Amino acid sequence: MIVTIDGPAGSGKSTAAKGLAARLGFRFLDTGALYRVTAYECLRAGVEANDETAAVRIAEALDVRFDGDRVYSAGIDVTTEIRTPEVTEIASVVARYADVRQAMDRRQREFAVGQNIVTEGRDQGTVVFPDAQCKFFLVADAEERASRRKLEMESQGQSIALDELTVQIEDRDRRDADRSVAPLKAADDAINVETSRLNADEVIDLLERTVRERLIDNSG
Ligand code: C5P
Repeated sequence: MIVTIDGPAGSGKSTAAKGLAARLGFRFLDTGALYRVTAYECLRAGVEANDETAAVRIAEALDVRFDGDRVYSAGIDVTTEIRTPEVTEIASVVARYADVRQAMDRRQREFAVGQNIVTEGRDQGTVVFPDAQCKFFLVADAEERASRRKLEMESQGQSIALDELTVQIEDRDRRDADRSVAPLKAADDAINVETSRLNADEVIDLLERTVRERLIDNSG
């Protein structure tokens, strides 16, 4: 079974997807990490984000491996490095390139072969897994999303003012939603979940209930 969770930054996708995968015993795929590793490798190679040809070359040659919570690029643990504000910005720039996306889509579909997965991103239910059996689209107020991101960044030793973070998040959402290829949007058959007033466990409970109902429906 494939469960997709899409939504804007800070909507609670990662926490929900990880928690849901653990409860169901499914594998978890963080597709944002793939775009982040592409951005990180561009930075490391001195490639400008607007150099599409070079960014595509890097995306196609990417050697990424997930091991639990850790992300490796060419055998090196880059889990922390791919979460910096600089990498975050570049990720959403290179994510606009159709050929970068194609390289990422291929890896995501390969990851799913023969597996039960919970995958999270922006285009999982719309483009990468249009036939997924269970699709969710998570949303939350921009302010709530910014304060969640702030807490997350603080836990990683980074500090940033809330209003600055809100502006960054809104800019990134705009870039993700306005791009011509695979824009951030809910699939027609996705279940929309407003998470602003729910805690992480409440979101996971809600998603788990829905998935288990579908599993029962599909087996009957
Ligand atoms: O989810 P995360 O914040 O890690 O994603 C980083 C960036 O990667 C997003 O802002 C978006 O531009 C891009 N992305 C995407 N499609 C996905 C996942 C992430 O375009 N499926």
